[in-house]
Amino acid sequence: MTDAIQEGSIVYRFKTPAEDANTLYVNMIGRYGCWNDCLFCGRPRLDPAEGSDGSGGWRPNVYEEKAGTSLYLRKSPSVVTVLDAIDNEIKQEDREIAIVGLGEPLMELPKVCGVIGSIKGKYGVHKIGVRVDTDGLVKCVYPEPAKRLEDAGLDEVRISVNAVNGEDYVRLCRPTLGSTPWVFGKLVDFVRDCVSSSMITKASFVIGFECDDPSGRGGMIATRPQQEYEDFAGTLGIPPEDIIWRQYVPTPD
Ligand code: SF4
Repeated sequence: MTDAIQEGSIVYRFKTPAEDANTLYVNMIGRYGCWNDCLFCGRPRLDPAEGSDGSGGWRPNVYEEKAGTSLYLRKSPSVVTVLDAIDNEIKQEDREIAIVGLGEPLMELPKVCGVIGSIKGKYGVHKIGVRVDTDGLVKCVYPEPAKRLEDAGLDEVRISVNAVNGEDYVRLCRPTLGSTPWVFGKLVDFVRDCVSSSMITKASFVIGFECDDPSGRGGMIATRPQQEYEDFAGTLGIPPEDIIWRQYVPTPD
């Protein structure tokens, strides 16, 4: 059966016990946009208008299952629209606003900085912390992104690193900004800029993933042992306690 495509939610909460109930999540990316096409990504691969389940219909992805709502936005909402959505949903007991996606939030860096600045002004710097989860490629596109986020008042940034070198990164994360290790160099620069800032900076790594190499060259593509990621994170100034491990969970067919 073909479901109508729902316009998704700008704000949402995860309904699973593993997530902090006092975090309000913000989605401000159009069409699940991202600079990567990671092999392990749980987003739909196709435009829902074309049918992400291959049958002309639409079904929720893993994040939408957890959130209990569609997160597909036809286009990125304005800063005012995002702030209105936050205002309607925020609760007294909320302690964090997390700008996460669905997709890569820093594709809209100027808007994200506008939202952060307004949140900090409106809800108070001590009451509500603001966090961004990012693929870390923003420095490929915008100048001085870490400084802009810090100046806007961002408290915490979580960067998906997922590799120890450019070759691994390109094979696993398939960046659309260029299929060369150059993008990984920009990611590493961004991590270092964030570590040097006042923002709490965490790095995340997917572990436990492997698949056949889809390029047709043969062989497997797999994530590395945790220790190798931990050692690499150390070279970026990220201590073990600031690493987030994301155990790969296959998307159900
Ligand atoms: S960076 Fe995140 S959203 Fe983008 S393709 Fe990779 S896993 Fe998916």
